[in-house]
Amino acid sequence: MAASEPCPMPTAHKRLMDCHAMWHAMSAAYMEPDSFRMHLNSLIQGLRNVTFMVQKQKADLAGYGEWYTRFVNEVCPRPLMRWAVKSRNRIVKESDLDLLSEAKIRWVANWTTKEERKFAFPPRMSSRQMLAAIFSNPGNPRVGVVTISRRWVDKALPEYELLHATREIFIELSRLLHAGHAAAGVTSCTIDRREPGCVTPAVSVHPLGCMDINSSLRQEHVDLEDGFGIDEVEHHIRRDERLVEKAYARYGSFSVSASDPIEAAPQLLESAHRVLRKDKCHMPMMWSYRDGKIVDMISPNFVDQNGKYLMFHRLADRVETLRADGIVLVIEAWWAPDDKRDAQGLQIPPRDREDRQEVLHVAAATRAGERLSLLSPFSRSKSGEIIFGETVSGPDEELGVLGPFLPIFERWKQMDERNER
Ligand SMILES: [Zn+2]
Ligand SMILES: [Zn+2]
Repeated sequence: MAASEPCPMPTAHKRLMDCHAMWHAMSAAYMEPDSFRMHLNSLIQGLRNVTFMVQKQKADLAGYGEWYTRFVNEVCPRPLMRWAVKSRNRIVKESDLDLLSEAKIRWVANWTTKEERKFAFPPRMSSRQMLAAIFSNPGNPRVGVVTISRRWVDKALPEYELLHATREIFIELSRLLHAGHAAAGVTSCTIDRREPGCVTPAVSVHPLGCMDINSSLRQEHVDLEDGFGIDEVEHHIRRDERLVEKAYARYGSFSVSASDPIEAAPQLLESAHRVLRKDKCHMPMMWSYRDGKIVDMISPNFVDQNGKYLMFHRLADRVETLRADGIVLVIEAWWAPDDKRDAQGLQIPPRDREDRQEVLHVAAATRAGERLSLLSPFSRSKSGEIIFGETVSGPDEELGVLGPFLPIFERWKQMDERNER
């Protein structure tokens, strides 16, 4: 790591870190309307102060004319940035923003039948009351799984939830300061880290994973078949070198050298084969990529079909929070090589067919639109041995395995539409 150097713009840099800390404070106060408004007001002023502080110091900043002009010409005209300036002026000179408390309801019946709607609800209304209101309309059938996400929006920016909007502005300002530091030849500067622990002096051009815009704390899930809530449980596992040694001893050593999800897929299938041979089962695993690097690895799990629908939507949430541009997923699944339809002409899911095959499915996809699935059929011998058949590969659509990935692909499309890079 490079040695720390003096910061070329310490006031602006500290203000940016203030914004990071304020964002978390605002997120933590989400369910308290007045605290939320208070933190939002501070954050919007704080974000504006970052650029004020940079401008004040312009005479001392290397390459200012170049990187600041680029910011003014390319970033400032974006609707979100203009909203930030207007909102700051309004908060300082006139009044609060016009905050609306909403619930976004996502109702998923199966991979292709789903709906998303936003409703205005008082912030303290219980989920039970919201569901009762929704299902008082007989047009909303009680099948599948429902997710209720609470959200605050400003009337002047109805398309954006406010943690999301302010995070976007924070990312743009981080990129501005990153450019300013780079022009001064500084990669790591001497500013103390703060509370919470993620508020470090590192200035990233990427969204920070700690700024979770899809936190499970603001979502509730209900399985409509049994009427019970579905709880999400997260376990965090730290890399432990002793466990890595143990894994190598058990499965043999392997490495994934590809920096691209599509190229990594065959390597991951190879390691998945070893795990399945040894353990007779394989936990679902998903690797997220950004700019050719793995930025996240999780083992998502579910217990039934509604849990599976939900899980894939939550994976899409994660892809959005991390702004991942590629994924590889390894999962055990049922598969059938052809398409059979029922009397109504609906596709019969492989899990309900008698000729279904058990497969290891490695799916790789990128935000740029590349898709690759590798399906490795396997059977179990009487003695419990795993016997692999011949691997089939191709785009998800051709293999009839597109469904589970639709939530992620749709999310990428929305990110493209909002020009989130
Ligand atoms: Zn600095
Ligand atoms: Zn953080």
